[in-house]
Amino acid sequence: MPVHFTVQIDCEATQHSIRDAALGERAIRGLGEVFAQQGLRASFMVIPSDMRAHARIYRELESQGHEIGLHAHPADEGYQEFLGVYGFDDQMKIVGEGMDVFAQAMGRRPRAFTPGYGSANDHTFPALERLGLRHGLVSVPTRNLPQCACVWGNSPLDAHYPHRFNRCLAGDVDFVDVPATLDTESRLWGGAHPQDLRIELVDAKNHWYTIHKNVKRLLAAGDKIPVKYIKAVTHNTFDYSDPANFRRETLLGVIAAARDIFAAEGAEFMPATTGDIADEYRRLVPLPSGGVTLALDTRGRARSQR
Ligand SMILES: [Zn+2]
Repeated sequence: MPVHFTVQIDCEATQHSIRDAALGERAIRGLGEVFAQQGLRASFMVIPSDMRAHARIYRELESQGHEIGLHAHPADEGYQEFLGVYGFDDQMKIVGEGMDVFAQAMGRRPRAFTPGYGSANDHTFPALERLGLRHGLVSVPTRNLPQCACVWGNSPLDAHYPHRFNRCLAGDVDFVDVPATLDTESRLWGGAHPQDLRIELVDAKNHWYTIHKNVKRLLAAGDKIPVKYIKAVTHNTFDYSDPANFRRETLLGVIAAARDIFAAEGAEFMPATTGDIADEYRRLVPLPSGGVTLALDTRGRARSQR
């Protein structure tokens, strides 16, 4: 059974808390090298100030088959840091301005988008749809960080069209959300954050268990999960050009673990970008019309109460 493997890199080496464009450049060049050696394709999601600094390299990476999309840390563009505190019009303005910078640098409009911190609210998906964005990584299932305007409850673990009025549900918004792979049962940060396949979060040994658990979950689901994928994430704030760098070692460990686990479980390893995964989802799952209906689960009611 085919299972996609992808990596998303949020590119923000120039943001105010890091301010190291040279490190960002070493990181994306090093990652490009690793992906070329490994035969992988990745999605680089770039904040406007990184795009201004490294446009030429992103055009090269795109010509090598990688996807380039837009990332947002609004504080670097004169707004509050968390997108999820804003209403529909302000989100359109903040993301739209980033899209303009992207278009100037890349010569085309972005199709992919990721907000910083997974910060979003119920206005976010309809705003992204209105702006013409097609897919991305927005939700972080079970992350509970109100202080970052990032609260997701038990939102879907796999690719889906989001709900128009409730970000935690699947629905009919014409935007494919492709969350990262994570383990909702392994909790970090005092329980607020699920252990996800973020390269810098833990070592390759810990990531092995997250990959294994998710490959088993995907294969057991059969047709219920139409597009199956394992998605790792990282940032361009580590020196991936240095072969002795621990994050680079961890990334290589995660790729090796995924290949081994896929082979052992009978999954076909299919390198992809987030855009490829979203396109496949669109091919297989028509956009529902008219929203979704929720039915109350009454199975637990005592017979006498019926
Ligand atoms: Zn970020």
